Amino acid sequence: MKVTVLVGGVGGARFLSGVRELLGPTPFPDPAERGSDDSSDRGANHPDDRQHEVTAIVNVGDDAWMHGVRICPDLDTCMYTLGGGIDRERGWGRVGETWHAKEELAAYGADPDWFGLGDRDLATHLIRTQMLDAGYRLSDVTAALCRRWQPGVRLIPVTDDRHETHVVVSKPGGEDGEQVAIHFQEWWVRHRAQIPTFGFAQVGSDDTRTAPGVEDAIAEADVVLVAPSNPVVSIGAIVSVPGVRSALRTTSAPVVGISPVIDNRPLRGMADECLSVIGVETSAEAIAAHYGARSANGILDGWLIADGDHAAVDGIAIGSAPLLMSDPTVTAQMVRDACALVGVATPDRNVGANPGRPS
Ligand code: GDP
Ligand code: CA
Repeated sequence: MKVTVLVGGVGGARFLSGVRELLGPTPFPDPAERGSDDSSDRGANHPDDRQHEVTAIVNVGDDAWMHGVRICPDLDTCMYTLGGGIDRERGWGRVGETWHAKEELAAYGADPDWFGLGDRDLATHLIRTQMLDAGYRLSDVTAALCRRWQPGVRLIPVTDDRHETHVVVSKPGGEDGEQVAIHFQEWWVRHRAQIPTFGFAQVGSDDTRTAPGVEDAIAEADVVLVAPSNPVVSIGAIVSVPGVRSALRTTSAPVVGISPVIDNRPLRGMADECLSVIGVETSAEAIAAHYGARSANGILDGWLIADGDHAAVDGIAIGSAPLLMSDPTVTAQMVRDACALVGVATPDRNVGANPGRPS
């Protein structure tokens, strides 16, 4: 079975933990890409491990240059979460993190001083930046970093090109009505979204294309899942990469989304603030209408909402289930429910991990 998932950071990573729990690990990087030094790695070529293939298409809208290094928050959140290196309490960054480099940079008065750059995390950014400088694509770099983390899910940035989310705000200290675009990270981390905001724009390459494998992963999937990630700055930023929307619209696989709100409130993160900027109410129904039905130029066939919430949108099959991602086993059931909603049967949990079972 081939499952492709569109994901952002914290919500996306937790959702992927459930997908992996249900379907077992997908070797990544692919054994064929690893080189001969890894050929002794059992599991990589084991047929059971290849039974299911999970590909995550990851948002890069949050990516930024800080202190000369390239930061990819959502890719790293997915990689650390699935690889067991995440700080679970914070939901992002490395467990056991220290902040000496950040303090030293602040002592020099270096800008930006508002970004949480951890010492352990910095090593990831240094390697990534060296590889990018040497001409590798972000998708290659991600595969290289994942050799260490073994996320058990194929992680691909939606694009190798720069495709940053910027936010149009009132210019601080500017004339009345004067506007300026700042990076999404500055808007969220520095200003906590608490400044007059007018819209979002993707900034970067004039010729942004999907990374290798992205459109194929959507076209060849048995089911495409839209994680309960931020509908604007995670899923919206992914779908804004040229080629993604048309791939979603033309795939023969059903596309099913999972609501990021429970009781019509987002769980954590900034969905509320982002949705209000684009004039969409924070409710399961309004988000589904915003994504739209595939039969009406949108991207969804199905929409799984939290028990107790309500949604009715023409052309979208609505189902409900408990949607709190408290642990991977519970989340695996959400994945199963989402697939069932669009008529896709999922295997018994961890088939690959239980090769003795008759099939
Ligand atoms: P970010 O990039 O770190 O902001 O993370 P994402 O965009 O992937 O996910 C953020 C969204 O995840 C938020 O809008 C939350 O509402 C949603 N979210 C977080 N935890 C849960 C959960 O347990 N269940 C559901 N349904 N949504 C969640
Ligand atoms: Ca993010």
